[in-house]
Amino acid sequence: MSIEKGILYIVPTPIGNRDDFSARSVEVLSQVDLIAAEDTRHSRPLLQHYGITTPLFAYHEHNERQAMGKILSRLEAGESVAVISDAGTPLISDPGFPLVRECHTQGIRVSPLPGPSAAVCALSAAGLPTDRFIFEGFPARTSQARQKQFQLLSKEPRTLVFYESSHRIKACIDDMLGVFGEERLVVIARELTKLHETIISAPLARLVEILEQDANQQRGEFVVLVAGADKPDGDALDADTERLLRILVAEMPLKQAAAIGAKISGEKKNRLYKAALSWVGKEGSQPG
Ligand code: SAM
Repeated sequence: MSIEKGILYIVPTPIGNRDDFSARSVEVLSQVDLIAAEDTRHSRPLLQHYGITTPLFAYHEHNERQAMGKILSRLEAGESVAVISDAGTPLISDPGFPLVRECHTQGIRVSPLPGPSAAVCALSAAGLPTDRFIFEGFPARTSQARQKQFQLLSKEPRTLVFYESSHRIKACIDDMLGVFGEERLVVIARELTKLHETIISAPLARLVEILEQDANQQRGEFVVLVAGADKPDGDALDADTERLLRILVAEMPLKQAAAIGAKISGEKKNRLYKAALSWVGKEGSQPG
């Protein structure tokens, strides 16, 4: 395979297990003129392991603007450049967005290679709905800001996906408990593809206990996935109407209770009758 010139390649690297480096990723990194790496010291052993000798260049959030100029001029000169991050897919909670945007502005082709990313890897094994999800990246660092962030997401019906570090995993789960409640199902995917890979799925109250009982569960790298909020029950009556109907149902037959309840509340008789019938089914309470 030979690569094209003047292209910016976005190349994923393993998130733990070195064998997850794709053959095409190795090939592209071997053939480009320059690799822009988030941390050259971090990436060198991996590249050496695969016999990749392409020159490395540091491209991270602290030198992003300046490094971008160099990368763009190499691309404009017709050379090819690959971007890699420390692990996983570049730009996913990693540097690269301004560079890719600028390439589009300047008409430089950007070619992504598919490969490892902790968020998708975790989603595939979490046992939570994946047809729709929200990726939130790292939660805020302070407890107050985190709780505010979770509050805004507390009614979100889609699965929520977060990255978290070992320094804040316990505090993050504690804040989730405070906002999402004891019953909300949360999955912690820890050290994916590595020796201590662990996936725990439990309601938040239980998850807090697990983390407290086993300090090892607070070590390593984490993806935290939160089940979406239950959809509001479309059949539920408002609190006042339900109270009224319950009083009536305790005193008279269902049909009569629904008819009188409808006159007082303005609700549809059928709707009240159905609600009352469901209580009788669930609670077995029907006046004689
Ligand atoms: N770009 C990367 C990707 O595509 O997954 C993510 C980079 S972000 C700076 C690093 C975070 O990803 C870690 O703090 C952790 O939350 C998550 N992560 C990376 N590798 C992981 C792994 N092997 N297991 C669980 N989470 C991981």
